[in-house]
Amino acid sequence: MRKEDITENLNRVGERIVTSCAACGRDPESVTLLAVSKTRPAADLRCAFEAGQRHFGENYLQEALEKQAELTDLDIIWHFIGPLQSNKTRAVAEHFHWMHSVDRLKIAQRLSAQRPEGMEPLNLCLQVNIDREESKSGVAPDEVGALAEAVAQLPNLRLRGLMAIPAPREAADAQAQPFRALADLLRQLREQLPGQPLDTLSMGMSSDMETAIACGATTVRIGTDIFGRRD
Ligand SMILES: *Cc1c(COP(=O)(O)O)cnc(C)c1O
Repeated sequence: MRKEDITENLNRVGERIVTSCAACGRDPESVTLLAVSKTRPAADLRCAFEAGQRHFGENYLQEALEKQAELTDLDIIWHFIGPLQSNKTRAVAEHFHWMHSVDRLKIAQRLSAQRPEGMEPLNLCLQVNIDREESKSGVAPDEVGALAEAVAQLPNLRLRGLMAIPAPREAADAQAQPFRALADLLRQLREQLPGQPLDTLSMGMSSDMETAIACGATTVRIGTDIFGRRD
Protein backbone atom coordinates (compact mmCIF):
# COMPACT_ATOMS: atom_id res chain seq x y z
CA MET A 1 0.00 0.00 0.00
CA ARG A 2 2.75 2.42 1.00
CA LYS A 3 4.62 1.52 -2.17
CA GLU A 4 1.61 2.37 -4.34
CA ASP A 5 1.01 5.69 -2.56
CA ILE A 6 4.62 6.79 -2.85
CA THR A 7 4.79 5.74 -6.51
CA GLU A 8 1.59 7.62 -7.31
CA ASN A 9 2.78 10.70 -5.40
CA LEU A 10 6.10 10.65 -7.24
CA ASN A 11 4.27 10.43 -10.56
CA ARG A 12 2.07 13.38 -9.62
CA VAL A 13 5.03 15.51 -8.59
CA GLY A 14 6.79 14.54 -11.82
CA GLU A 15 3.75 15.70 -13.79
CA ARG A 16 3.72 18.99 -11.92
CA ILE A 17 7.36 19.52 -12.88
CA VAL A 18 6.56 18.82 -16.54
CA THR A 19 3.55 21.18 -16.49
CA SER A 20 5.46 23.98 -14.73
CA CYS A 21 8.34 23.69 -17.17
CA ALA A 22 5.98 23.73 -20.17
CA ALA A 23 4.36 26.92 -18.82
CA CYS A 24 7.67 28.78 -18.84
CA GLY A 25 9.38 27.12 -21.80
CA ARG A 26 11.89 25.10 -19.81
CA ASP A 27 13.16 21.58 -20.39
CA PRO A 28 11.82 19.32 -17.59
CA GLU A 29 15.21 17.62 -17.59
CA SER A 30 16.65 20.87 -16.24
CA VAL A 31 14.84 20.32 -12.91
CA THR A 32 16.08 17.68 -10.44
CA LEU A 33 13.56 16.30 -8.00
CA LEU A 34 15.07 15.94 -4.54
CA ALA A 35 12.90 13.69 -2.34
CA VAL A 36 13.10 15.07 1.20
CA SER A 37 12.91 11.99 3.42
CA LYS A 38 13.52 13.40 6.90
CA THR A 39 11.56 11.52 9.62
CA ARG A 40 10.67 8.77 7.09
CA PRO A 41 11.79 5.17 7.60
CA ALA A 42 14.33 3.57 5.28
CA ALA A 43 11.52 1.39 3.86
CA ASP A 44 9.85 4.52 2.41
CA LEU A 45 13.06 5.55 0.68
CA ARG A 46 13.37 2.07 -0.74
CA CYS A 47 9.83 2.32 -2.17
CA ALA A 48 10.67 5.66 -3.78
CA PHE A 49 13.92 4.27 -5.16
CA GLU A 50 12.08 1.33 -6.68
CA ALA A 51 9.74 3.84 -8.32
CA GLY A 52 12.78 5.46 -9.96
CA GLN A 53 13.73 8.21 -7.49
CA ARG A 54 17.52 8.68 -7.08
CA HIS A 55 18.13 11.95 -5.17
CA PHE A 56 17.24 12.01 -1.46
CA GLY A 57 17.58 14.89 1.00
CA GLU A 58 18.06 14.49 4.73
CA ASN A 59 18.08 17.09 7.53
CA TYR A 60 19.21 15.21 10.61
CA LEU A 61 22.64 13.65 10.53
CA GLN A 62 22.21 10.71 12.90
CA GLU A 63 18.92 9.71 11.31
CA ALA A 64 20.43 9.97 7.84
CA LEU A 65 23.43 7.81 8.71
CA GLU A 66 21.16 5.09 10.09
CA LYS A 67 19.12 5.02 6.89
CA GLN A 68 22.23 5.03 4.74
CA ALA A 69 23.46 1.95 6.62
CA GLU A 70 20.18 0.18 5.79
CA LEU A 71 20.24 1.17 2.13
CA THR A 72 23.84 0.46 1.09
CA ASP A 73 22.59 -1.78 -1.72
CA LEU A 74 20.90 1.20 -3.46
CA ASP A 75 22.69 3.69 -5.68
CA ILE A 76 21.25 6.75 -3.93
CA ILE A 77 22.59 10.28 -4.38
CA TRP A 78 22.54 11.72 -0.85
CA HIS A 79 21.98 15.41 -0.15
CA PHE A 80 22.36 16.99 3.28
CA ILE A 81 19.93 19.92 3.58
CA GLY A 82 19.69 20.66 7.32
CA PRO A 83 21.59 22.88 9.72
CA LEU A 84 25.00 21.48 10.67
CA GLN A 85 27.18 22.15 13.70
CA SER A 86 30.87 22.45 12.90
CA ASN A 87 31.76 19.43 15.06
CA LYS A 88 29.52 17.23 12.85
CA THR A 89 31.05 18.04 9.46
CA ARG A 90 33.15 14.90 9.14
CA ALA A 91 30.20 12.53 8.67
CA VAL A 92 28.76 14.79 5.95
CA ALA A 93 32.13 14.95 4.20
CA GLU A 94 32.36 11.16 4.30
CA HIS A 95 28.79 10.10 3.52
CA PHE A 96 27.10 12.63 1.22
CA HIS A 97 27.33 13.72 -2.41
CA TRP A 98 25.78 17.14 -1.87
CA MET A 99 25.54 19.67 0.95
CA HIS A 100 22.97 22.48 0.49
CA SER A 101 23.13 24.39 3.74
CA VAL A 102 26.59 25.90 4.11
CA ASP A 103 26.34 29.42 5.49
CA ARG A 104 29.79 30.08 6.92
CA LEU A 105 33.36 29.57 5.86
CA LYS A 106 34.37 27.45 8.82
CA ILE A 107 31.90 24.71 7.82
CA ALA A 108 33.15 24.74 4.22
CA GLN A 109 36.80 24.59 5.33
CA ARG A 110 36.14 21.59 7.53
CA LEU A 111 34.13 19.79 4.82
CA SER A 112 36.96 20.30 2.34
CA ALA A 113 39.64 19.16 4.80
CA GLN A 114 37.60 16.10 5.85
CA ARG A 115 36.52 14.95 2.38
CA PRO A 116 38.21 11.54 2.03
CA GLU A 117 40.90 11.14 -0.59
CA GLY A 118 39.67 9.33 -3.68
CA MET A 119 36.09 10.63 -3.37
CA GLU A 120 34.70 13.14 -5.88
CA PRO A 121 34.63 16.70 -4.55
CA LEU A 122 31.59 17.42 -2.36
CA ASN A 123 28.96 19.41 -4.29
CA LEU A 124 28.03 22.45 -2.32
CA CYS A 125 25.34 25.13 -2.23
CA LEU A 126 25.44 28.20 -0.03
CA GLN A 127 22.25 28.72 1.96
CA VAL A 128 21.05 32.32 1.72
CA ASN A 129 18.79 33.99 4.28
CA ILE A 130 16.96 35.57 1.39
CA ASP A 131 14.27 37.30 3.48
CA ARG A 132 16.77 38.46 6.10
CA GLU A 133 14.78 36.78 8.86
CA GLU A 134 16.15 37.21 12.39
CA SER A 135 16.23 33.59 13.50
CA LYS A 136 16.88 31.82 10.20
CA SER A 137 20.12 30.23 9.12
CA GLY A 138 21.77 31.29 5.91
CA VAL A 139 24.29 33.89 4.83
CA ALA A 140 22.97 37.44 4.36
CA PRO A 141 22.38 38.29 0.68
CA ASP A 142 25.05 41.02 0.68
CA GLU A 143 27.64 38.60 2.11
CA VAL A 144 27.14 35.82 -0.44
CA GLY A 145 29.80 37.13 -2.83
CA ALA A 146 32.58 37.18 -0.23
CA LEU A 147 31.69 33.74 1.14
CA ALA A 148 31.53 32.24 -2.38
CA GLU A 149 34.90 33.74 -3.25
CA ALA A 150 36.49 32.06 -0.23
CA VAL A 151 34.68 28.74 -0.67
CA ALA A 152 35.72 28.57 -4.33
CA GLN A 153 39.38 28.37 -3.20
CA LEU A 154 38.84 25.16 -1.23
CA PRO A 155 40.18 22.07 -2.99
CA ASN A 156 37.75 19.26 -2.23
CA LEU A 157 34.50 21.11 -2.83
CA ARG A 158 32.60 22.00 -5.97
CA LEU A 159 30.64 25.22 -5.53
CA ARG A 160 27.42 24.52 -7.44
CA GLY A 161 25.03 27.31 -6.43
CA LEU A 162 22.58 28.68 -3.91
CA MET A 163 19.80 27.37 -1.69
CA ALA A 164 17.06 29.21 0.19
CA ILE A 165 13.95 28.59 2.26
CA PRO A 166 11.94 31.82 1.84
CA ALA A 167 9.27 32.88 4.31
CA PRO A 168 5.86 31.67 3.09
CA ARG A 169 3.60 34.20 1.33
CA GLU A 170 -0.05 33.88 0.42
CA ALA A 171 0.06 34.85 -3.24
CA ALA A 172 2.18 33.25 -5.94
CA ASP A 173 3.40 36.62 -7.26
CA ALA A 174 4.58 37.57 -3.76
CA GLN A 175 6.23 34.16 -3.38
CA ALA A 176 8.12 34.72 -6.62
CA GLN A 177 9.96 37.73 -5.23
CA PRO A 178 12.49 35.89 -2.99
CA PHE A 179 12.98 33.22 -5.66
CA ARG A 180 13.80 35.91 -8.24
CA ALA A 181 16.16 37.52 -5.76
CA LEU A 182 18.01 34.21 -5.30
CA ALA A 183 18.21 33.72 -9.08
CA ASP A 184 19.67 37.23 -9.41
CA LEU A 185 22.29 36.45 -6.76
CA LEU A 186 23.33 33.34 -8.69
CA ARG A 187 23.66 35.38 -11.90
CA GLN A 188 25.93 37.83 -10.06
CA LEU A 189 28.04 34.96 -8.71
CA ARG A 190 28.50 33.55 -12.21
CA GLU A 191 29.96 36.87 -13.35
CA GLN A 192 32.10 37.15 -10.26
CA LEU A 193 33.46 33.57 -10.44
CA PRO A 194 33.45 32.55 -14.11
CA GLY A 195 35.50 29.39 -13.51
CA GLN A 196 33.02 27.79 -11.12
CA PRO A 197 30.31 25.25 -12.12
CA LEU A 198 27.50 27.45 -10.76
CA ASP A 199 24.50 25.64 -12.21
CA THR A 200 22.26 25.03 -9.20
CA LEU A 201 19.33 26.94 -7.71
CA SER A 202 17.97 24.78 -4.89
CA MET A 203 14.56 26.30 -4.14
CA GLY A 204 10.91 25.30 -4.00
CA MET A 205 9.12 22.87 -1.66
CA SER A 206 5.73 21.13 -1.81
CA SER A 207 3.68 24.32 -1.50
CA ASP A 208 5.64 26.61 -3.82
CA MET A 209 7.37 24.32 -6.31
CA GLU A 210 5.60 25.74 -9.39
CA THR A 211 6.59 29.30 -8.56
CA ALA A 212 10.18 28.27 -7.90
CA ILE A 213 10.42 26.51 -11.25
CA ALA A 214 9.03 29.57 -13.03
CA CYS A 215 11.82 31.57 -11.36
CA GLY A 216 14.57 29.17 -12.46
CA ALA A 217 14.83 26.47 -9.78
CA THR A 218 17.05 23.58 -10.90
CA THR A 219 16.50 21.47 -7.77
CA VAL A 220 13.14 21.32 -5.99
CA ARG A 221 13.11 19.80 -2.51
CA ILE A 222 9.83 17.93 -1.98
CA GLY A 223 8.87 16.06 1.19
CA THR A 224 5.16 16.22 2.03
CA ASP A 225 3.83 15.74 -1.49
CA ILE A 226 5.88 12.54 -1.91
CA PHE A 227 5.78 10.91 1.52
CA GLY A 228 2.70 12.53 3.07
CA ARG A 229 2.41 14.90 5.97
CA ARG A 230 4.99 14.67 8.76
CA ASP A 231 3.80 14.42 12.42
C1 LIG B 1 11.50 19.63 5.08
C2 LIG B 1 12.23 20.40 4.05
C3 LIG B 1 11.80 20.43 2.72
C4 LIG B 1 10.52 19.75 2.22
O1 LIG B 1 9.39 20.45 2.64
P1 LIG B 1 7.92 19.97 2.20
O2 LIG B 1 7.09 21.16 2.47
O3 LIG B 1 7.57 18.81 3.07
O4 LIG B 1 7.95 19.62 0.77
C5 LIG B 1 12.58 21.12 1.81
N1 LIG B 1 13.72 21.74 2.17
C6 LIG B 1 14.16 21.72 3.43
C7 LIG B 1 15.43 22.43 3.76
C8 LIG B 1 13.43 21.07 4.41
O5 LIG B 1 13.89 21.08 5.67
